[in-house]
This record gives sequence, C-alpha cells and structure tokens, in this order.
Amino acid sequence: MKILWTPWRMEYIMGGKPEGCLFCTQKQEPEGKDRENHILHRGATCYILLNRFPYTNGHIMIAPYQHVASLEQLEDKSLYEMMALTRASVAALNKAFSPAGFNIGLNLGKVAGAGIADHLHIHVVPRWAGDVNFMSVLGETRLIPETLNTTYDKLLPILTQEVSRIR
Ligand SMILES: [Zn+2]
Repeated sequence: MKILWTPWRMEYIMGGKPEGCLFCTQKQEPEGKDRENHILHRGATCYILLNRFPYTNGHIMIAPYQHVASLEQLEDKSLYEMMALTRASVAALNKAFSPAGFNIGLNLGKVAGAGIADHLHIHVVPRWAGDVNFMSVLGETRLIPETLNTTYDKLLPILTQEVSRIR
C-alpha cells in the first residue's frame, strides 16, 4: 500500500487521546447521536462506523461490541457478523462511490499499526487510481467533518439496504 498523504490525521496523532476505549465509548452513546458519531449500523454483535481520520473518503471500520484485542478471543458469532458487515460495506461503497479497489484488513498490535490495539476492528478503505494525492487537494483539516457528514448521508441508506440482505 502506498503512503497516503492525509494531513488531518495529524490531529489524531498529535491530539489528546480520549480516556478509555473509543470503540467501547462509541457503542454506548445513545442511538440518537449516531449521525454525530458517524455510526452507520448497529448489528447484533458488531457495529459499523466511519473513520473520523480517514485514509480515503468512505474509510469504514467494523468493530465487535466485545472488547478483545485478538481474533482468538472473539466469539464465533461476532466473527461471522463482522465479515458479513464487511461484505455489506464493500457493496454499499461500490454503489455509492465506485472505487477501483479496496484495502481491507486488521492491524493486530501496535507494532502492526493499530491505532487502538486493545479493541480489534476491520478497516475497509476504498481506493481509486491516483488517490495517493486524494484530499491533499482539499487540504484544510477543517473541511473533513463536513466531508464525513456528506459521506455518512450518502452511504447510510445504501448500507442499510445492503445490511438488510444479511441472513
Ligand atoms: Zn473496547
């Protein structure tokens, strides 16, 4: 994977980290605040959210409710739903943004690049040819929240439809 130029991630790297686990905190937020928190879907064992510090537009994360660092500790039913929600996310992103490809994966452990190593999560990063320079065009960090809300609103109805197909 080529290095993406994502200046707004400095806010994440340099900014104060919230107390506790972000994924556990967010899942406990009231559902009325899902748009504010960019939570796209709450499943039985996992939920889908937009990454607030995206590598590309439409960077999604799927996290189990269970607070575990490794796949070995994850319940079987979460494992299945996590992958089903990953598939639904890919389908929705394809329909919403027509990316040319995806990077999908888990960073397990800080040494592997996990920002939040204690609570595993799958990254779904849509890719476009030439996206190494994506967003550097937009430049200003302050534009990102607006971009996230636009992405959220476009993705939500499509993703909701894709998720409803899961059996
Ligand atoms: Zn957690």
